Amino acid sequence: MSVVRGKPDMSKNKSSESVKVVVRCRPLNRKEESHGPAGGIVQMDVRLGQVILRNPRAPASEPQKTFTFDAVYDGNSKQGDLYDESVRPLIDSVLAGFNGTIFAYGQTGTGKTYTMQGAWMDPEKRGVIPNAFDHIFTHISRSQSDKQYLVRASYLEIYLEEVLDLLDPNHGTARALELRESPESGVYVRDLTSCVCKSIKEIEEVMNVGNQARAVGATDMNEHSSRSHALFLITVECSQPGPDGRKHIRVGRLNLVDLAGSERQAKTGVQGERLKEAAKINLSLSALGNVISALADGRSGHVPYRDSKLTRLLQDSLGGNAKTVMVATLGPAPQHYDETLTTLRYANRAKNIQNQPRVNEDPKDALLREFQMEIARLRAQLHHRKWRSKQKKEQVDGDGWERDGDEESEGEEDEEEGVEKEAEEYVKMEEQRLEREKQDIREDQFMLADEKQRLLGEKERMMGVLRKEQEATEQLTAKYKAMESKLLVGGKNIIDHTNEQQKMLEGKRHEIAEQTRSEREIQQQMLVQDEETVELRETFTSLQQEVEAKTKKLKKLYAKLQCIKAEIQDVNDEHVRSRQELEQTQNELTRELKFKYLIIENFIPPEEKNKIMNRLTFDTEEDQWKFQPLVPAESKSLQMKKRPASAVGYKRPISQYARVAIATGAHSRYRAENIMFLELDMTPPNSASLDRSAESEQKQSLSLDNSPTKDRSVCKSRSWCQTPKSITSSSSNVSLAARHTATPMTAQ
Ligand code: ADP
Ligand code: MG
Repeated sequence: MSVVRGKPDMSKNKSSESVKVVVRCRPLNRKEESHGPAGGIVQMDVRLGQVILRNPRAPASEPQKTFTFDAVYDGNSKQGDLYDESVRPLIDSVLAGFNGTIFAYGQTGTGKTYTMQGAWMDPEKRGVIPNAFDHIFTHISRSQSDKQYLVRASYLEIYLEEVLDLLDPNHGTARALELRESPESGVYVRDLTSCVCKSIKEIEEVMNVGNQARAVGATDMNEHSSRSHALFLITVECSQPGPDGRKHIRVGRLNLVDLAGSERQAKTGVQGERLKEAAKINLSLSALGNVISALADGRSGHVPYRDSKLTRLLQDSLGGNAKTVMVATLGPAPQHYDETLTTLRYANRAKNIQNQPRVNEDPKDALLREFQMEIARLRAQLHHRKWRSKQKKEQVDGDGWERDGDEESEGEEDEEEGVEKEAEEYVKMEEQRLEREKQDIREDQFMLADEKQRLLGEKERMMGVLRKEQEATEQLTAKYKAMESKLLVGGKNIIDHTNEQQKMLEGKRHEIAEQTRSEREIQQQMLVQDEETVELRETFTSLQQEVEAKTKKLKKLYAKLQCIKAEIQDVNDEHVRSRQELEQTQNELTRELKFKYLIIENFIPPEEKNKIMNRLTFDTEEDQWKFQPLVPAESKSLQMKKRPASAVGYKRPISQYARVAIATGAHSRYRAENIMFLELDMTPPNSASLDRSAESEQKQSLSLDNSPTKDRSVCKSRSWCQTPKSITSSSSNVSLAARHTATPMTAQ
């Protein structure tokens, strides 16, 4: 099932912008250098933003393929260049409240992970994600002090079409998460762990935890990491007072995506179960391809977002309200020509996707708002508590309420400090007073001992109340402080390298990046215009010259025609190939289906089958068939409400006879509770067999056993109502092993 969307608006209206596509080619690695013929097949014109691809199998006369992108980065490019030029503007938009997505697409081993994460330790080699952390927190520390920020991070992966939480401590054993959709925040993952981060260090920690979980998965399953998509999500909420005096919240969501390797699984020649698995692994990627094609094509109104988890999660990023940058990664080795060409085609298509980015202003589900409200509530509570203590102190002091008037005119901060101090003083004074009074009572010789004891007890109780109160206040204060510290306030120096020089340097770098970009754009435009206008300006002095010029032009056009013909042929071939793959998968699935039907028809009774069929429902949210629960949810609660009359006051229904038997304490059989003896067994652990029936084992047990109380202790831990049956040697070993490790375990 898929979503039918309105036809994407291809006209460049004000609010729409296209997906930015940049291409990066990594240098030849050592193995490739020693392997094939010298040199790569990818040439890059960084100035023009062009990639020129040479087909290593084609004759030299065949024209090379040229693709133009928003920017290209060759093997010598630095991580910082890519970030400053292509990523920085996007992160700035996220900080302003837009949704943003960066995804790396390409064959395994071409540098997707290198581009997104890079080498952490080396500042030169840090990838997009760590650079984005720096960028976000530096921005917050430099912003005005009336802004409040809340930064959250989540990390998930999609493996075998299942969404897994990488921050879940039980990752690996935990259930897959579900996708949900809300009109407010679009598609989201239910129950996904989200960590509030207060600094670069904290968010890096989150990233490391997730990476470790991913790495463990990778060792469990060969090649897991290059077959799973990893999504790191950062939400930045910012509250700022608007002109109307009210605080307005903007929420920017950033998706940083490291996709699985795009190479064809079928090429590896797998079949049967493996092929099905491969089809599932690549389902997300082929769905992504289909979505890109549908959006880029612009003619089909139907965009198959719902075909996979990945495309559903990226729905906003492709043709939606987000700003998107795609980094296509290439390898220069000749043996990967086909994959490189496919990647370039994908990237080329993605350029045509139009998004309509907009700022998320005051969304209902902003967590920042909740935090602010909770902080205000705690603050009020704390204030009230301290105010009460202060008033009590004033009553003790005897100077009553007179001073209230002048204090209210003081600043709120000062007043709060005053209240806090007085509250503390009050507690101290009260303690001293109670101590003094206790002393007095002890020294009073005329008082009776009983009376003394009673009064001392009373004072002790009052001290206890006072302490409890103070403890509660302290707890409240701690909670308040913890909550408040999560909100980051602009203008505070949370990063130590924010000096002016650095700021200027960054500004300059930004400017240069901006200039390079606009230069490239102008160059690209010029190139297009040149081709169109050159013949208009030409004037011919002689017929001969005209013939020459026209022949040249004809040749050029002919070459272009050949290029396009070749392109058509290529696309057709690719289409046929993918069609064959799909047919193969379909055949496999049909066979499987027939087999299952065969089993159902021949081995499952029709009534059982009908029962199961009747319980099946289609969950449109999840896009799956599901079983209805045997007992409907609402009737379950009704059933549970009424307790049988004979069970009122007891844990379970009980007969009249048993009730009398309990009252008279006749036989413990009728006890409703504590039917097991649960005293702690203090005998030293042993590991002998308990089997009485087997003679030989008993002998062994006697030789090992030096505890005469052993049998009793085992009986103790068993319910008395079980008939004492002979314990088999294996079960006794197990129970003894359990006792061996932890004696109290047997009492559970
Ligand atoms: P992928 O995630 O696409 O499978 P990786 O990011 O793991 O690929 O990169 C494979 C190898 O190539 C790594 O050892 C990485 O260090 C190296 N590499 C990738 N891109 C570059 C680059 N631009 N410059 C230098 N080395 C690179
Ligand atoms: Mg990778």
